Amino acid sequence: MNFGRAPCIISRTFRLLGNAQLVSGSTWGRFPSTSVIMARRTGKIRGYSDFCRERNRLRVLLDMDMVLADFEEHFLTKYRETYPDAPYVKAEDRDGFWLRDQYEKISPNLKDKVQSIYEAEFFFRDLPEIPGAIEAAQEINKMEDVDVFICTSPLVQYKYCVKEKFEWVEQHLGMEWVEKLIITRDKTMVQGHVLIDDKPKIKGKVICCLSIPSWKHVVFTACHNRRTNIHGRRRLDNWTDGSWRNLLEDIRKHI
Ligand SMILES: [Mg+2]
Repeated sequence: MNFGRAPCIISRTFRLLGNAQLVSGSTWGRFPSTSVIMARRTGKIRGYSDFCRERNRLRVLLDMDMVLADFEEHFLTKYRETYPDAPYVKAEDRDGFWLRDQYEKISPNLKDKVQSIYEAEFFFRDLPEIPGAIEAAQEINKMEDVDVFICTSPLVQYKYCVKEKFEWVEQHLGMEWVEKLIITRDKTMVQGHVLIDDKPKIKGKVICCLSIPSWKHVVFTACHNRRTNIHGRRRLDNWTDGSWRNLLEDIRKHI
């Protein structure tokens, strides 16, 4: 997944940030809005209790590629179909987040072949689901006092990728989830309590400024990160054994 390092292409982040004042972001959630302060002063308890309830809502951010959608499996299928005589890396031999880098070590001319696969039209639209991901996402969406969003980074070569991410979400989760899709090159700018993401190191403006993102990063296990040192962060290995429920409950205790 060679997404490069260009600045943000498209970001719906600020719409989300605009709503965040009454939602329990780790920083902003401590500061009630003017209407809430007025509700306290005028004795309109309903506004204040609404604020308390909103403060305690758990905001979950789900990455898309390799958390909901199986980028690696689809890549390998398409790559082998397109370049049947070229060397390839089996899933069990994947090591390191950047697919392009691992292929380039085999032969420098493989880099362009790799990119040609995931930059092609329909690649992102046709990604298969990670087992259990859609069912888990739908269940999280129905949980009490939980808000869930998809937080995904597009390719720099965004011609097909961005549009097809919307299409994938609509097709697999429904139109309601299109409203929950945050496409940004900098996930550190997004407010949340937990980000479930397969990328072991998530960089961005917030981290560069020696601050920390609002969310805790849970590393979703994928073929490329099984051997990666994740420096004490928690892992979520799959969506199928139900362990994600305990994980979210643990995180909720600390918001
Ligand atoms: Mg990912």
